[in-house]
Amino acid sequence: MPIDATQAYDDTNIFARILRGEIPARRVYEDDHALAFHDIHPQAPVHILVIPKGPYVSWDDFSARAPAAEIAGFVRAVGHVAREQGLVAPGYRLLANTGGHGGQEVPHLHVHLFGGRGLGPMLAR
Ligand code: AMP
Repeated sequence: MPIDATQAYDDTNIFARILRGEIPARRVYEDDHALAFHDIHPQAPVHILVIPKGPYVSWDDFSARAPAAEIAGFVRAVGHVAREQGLVAPGYRLLANTGGHGGQEVPHLHVHLFGGRGLGPMLAR
């Protein structure tokens, strides 16, 4: 079920639990501001999720409330993971679903990083 992106942050969500180490994840990168791990149901040969460590529901919430250092740290982490995974030369796709129309299901901001093959049209037609 897609979430309401205007809701308050709920720290029982699955990514909050991954951040607290309560449930496992196949981690690929971590720094002060961000954590990256493999999506449990990959939709491309490379499908990694990058999340900020702070409590933000969505891109909207993050861009409105996060301090500049957290925003810079998160954006740099996404770029770092893409470079580290060797995705820059072949190319890759970033996606941040937000709220109902975006189809967001987990209410903790995450950027999907897809790669490893040609990814086709931007949206299903
Ligand atoms: P979204 O629709 O943008 O909210 O996407 C949520 C993503 O989280 C989906 O691609 C799920 O496969 C992924 N996901 C859900 N639970 C886990 C988990 N425990 N570990 C890794 N990825 C997960």
